[in-house]
Amino acid sequence: MIVDLHTHSTASDGTTPPDVLVREAREAGLSVLALTDHDTSVGWAAAADALPSGLALVRGAEISCVHDGISLHLLAYLYDPDEPALAATLQDMRDSRRARAERMARMLEADGTGVTWERVQELAGGTVGRPHLAQALIELGHVADIRGAFVPEWIGTRGRYWVPKRDLDVLDAIRLVAAAGGVTVFAHPAASSRGRIVDEEVIAQMAEAGLHGLEVDHYDHEPEVRDALRGLAADLGLLVTGSSDFHGDNKPVELAENTTAVEMYERLVSAATGLEVLAA
Ligand code: AMP
Ligand code: ZN
Ligand code: FE
Ligand code: FE
Repeated sequence: MIVDLHTHSTASDGTTPPDVLVREAREAGLSVLALTDHDTSVGWAAAADALPSGLALVRGAEISCVHDGISLHLLAYLYDPDEPALAATLQDMRDSRRARAERMARMLEADGTGVTWERVQELAGGTVGRPHLAQALIELGHVADIRGAFVPEWIGTRGRYWVPKRDLDVLDAIRLVAAAGGVTVFAHPAASSRGRIVDEEVIAQMAEAGLHGLEVDHYDHEPEVRDALRGLAADLGLLVTGSSDFHGDNKPVELAENTTAVEMYERLVSAATGLEVLAA
């Protein structure tokens, strides 16, 4: 049984539409796929409608959070998307992302790069993010690839054309998801190549707030880092997951490049009270 609990579709910054993603997942031999687009559940319906037999769909999202000025990502699964407090917060975050992406696009436009907000919107099917601005820069020949855009001269964090977006404190996010019947896993907790990471004390506070697991097996973690995280998860009584963080052509990772043990998956799902896992 192959379980992949972290993937993106065109509902955020992946390049595979949700209905195609579930078919590709089945073809790749997966038994369980979680769809976790950034701050949105807009891809769930298309994925559910196209769900092939033999694949279970876990509806989720990857929520952009912050703590002490450090940006971090929280995977949230099986929460009730209509729970008012969580729904309002996620709507707010999407509105803020949109306003911020528009400001960044207009700054790029004003400097004569050829980037337009109209084009960036075309490139974004759902939640707009910096990868869409990066695509616009690639099309215009300013950078060779997405990574080339995440630099100080372009749209890297605190870079020339970077604008902050509204972020939610991770402890509040964990409580909001729990109140909506969902379960949470700290995504790529030690991905130091993306920027500053939080220390173990913060992870302990997250566990205290109701966090269920740590995403240990992820392409951003070297083997020694994974060992340390596994030890920390054991100390804090947290579940351990692994996942691909698939983004289609936007990242060089394959579906199920990292996976979650069945026992861990079952314990995670049994802790949720919001939504059911879908099966065709
Ligand atoms: P945003 O959420 O709009 O600020 O964009 C951040 C997203 O861009 C992350 O979730 C990653 O998917 C992607 N990203 C961040 N840093 C890099 C990088 N150095 N190279 C490629 N993609 C990145
Ligand atoms: Zn992404
Ligand atoms: Fe992430
Ligand atoms: Fe992700």
